Amino acid sequence: MNEYDSAKIADLLTDEDNFELTTNEHEADLMVLNTCSIREKAQEKVFHQIGRWKKIKDKNPNLKIAIGGCVASQEGEKIIKRAPTVDIVFGPQSLHKLPKLYNERVNNETRQVDISFPKLEKFSYLPQNSKDEPSAFVSIMEGCNKYCSFCVVPHTRGHEVSRPVQEILEEVSMLADNGAREIHFLGQNVNNFNGMLDGEKSTLAKLIELTAKIENVDRIRFTTSHPFEFKDDLIETYDRVPELVSHVHLPVQSGSDRILKLMRRRYDIKQYYELVDKIVEVRPEMKFSSDFIVGFPGETDEDFIETMSVVEKIRFDESFSFIYSPRPNTPAAEMEDNVSDSIKKERLQELQSKLYYFSNGYSRKMVGTSQRILVMGVSKKDPGQLYGRTVCNKVVNFTSQSVDLIGQFINIQIVEALPNSLKGNLK
Ligand code: SAH
Repeated sequence: MNEYDSAKIADLLTDEDNFELTTNEHEADLMVLNTCSIREKAQEKVFHQIGRWKKIKDKNPNLKIAIGGCVASQEGEKIIKRAPTVDIVFGPQSLHKLPKLYNERVNNETRQVDISFPKLEKFSYLPQNSKDEPSAFVSIMEGCNKYCSFCVVPHTRGHEVSRPVQEILEEVSMLADNGAREIHFLGQNVNNFNGMLDGEKSTLAKLIELTAKIENVDRIRFTTSHPFEFKDDLIETYDRVPELVSHVHLPVQSGSDRILKLMRRRYDIKQYYELVDKIVEVRPEMKFSSDFIVGFPGETDEDFIETMSVVEKIRFDESFSFIYSPRPNTPAAEMEDNVSDSIKKERLQELQSKLYYFSNGYSRKMVGTSQRILVMGVSKKDPGQLYGRTVCNKVVNFTSQSVDLIGQFINIQIVEALPNSLKGNLK
């Protein structure tokens, strides 16, 4: 989501205010940091980066520094108090105001802070997407109402609100005209999407169906879906819409009902398994990925063993896992955290090696098979190679100089499974 927002910030500044992007920090007039506060570590990085940028600003007094995103939303004025070198603070919902805030800072000399939540206003100000990319993110909703006890998102991104369907379809059509073949819908709980269509509230299932009809859209993904709201009409969509990929990110967080309750996730493990079974019934080849939190306050060995058995049972393909991090204004931050750091680290390692066992297992099984990939671009590590992504989003690198393959679907022979990618040969 931050990647999407960052691209929009860049588009906005280059479109309206005639800024040009530069990779040379020393010639910049404005440096923008789009921040994340989901865990404390991400938040601390912000102040380290501001410290580094201060040195550049000391040599170039015209340089302005703007801090956006969720740390900005959470800390507001406090950022400027802690780091007076910062000129502008803006939130995830007020990013469209950045050009105005910049001009005010330059003309009036006062520092600017705007972390308001004007509902969906930002989308009406966003210029046309300037990048031609085979796979494009599209935010379909903002904020979150779930208030999971560990999570800062509802506090930093505000209440859940969906964009109107027509507006999303227009954005998708434009992206598809510019060469996007894969559309990746974004939101905190996309399966609760309820944007307006013809005067009525719509659903994610309907949005997916309409998107699949747009010419050139061959793959549709969405992130993140909440297990509590994965409704039957969405499951049925897997039957009707082949463009919807056989890979779904369905964060379980923990395998223990006791911990899930403390997390306020609104489902238990039995319900999670039932949901997985229902989806697999419609799409037998479906692969699942998940997010996990270990070391939630009070997590016992037994709770953790239950998390490990979910991994054994579902055999996730690729997942994200984190040590619990207390966040401001969240109920979990008030709970007694009696799990030691060393145990948290041990549990994370154990979980990650099991997750790797399964995801690498899927990769190894692909060796010798032909896979359909969408070619994304030239490999960052080796200009003699291109890379693409499989239906489950695994990266495949292959030797080729044919840049005209970028943006096309091709079949490729998988020859090797590496820890984080696959190697393929053009047939
Ligand atoms: N809306 C999504 C989550 C988005 S945040 C959902 O409900 O599934 C992405 C992931 O970060 C979460 O799924 C969770 O695993 C992790 N996360 C969120 N808050 C965290 C915290 N306080 N400590 C550690 N991990 C956290």
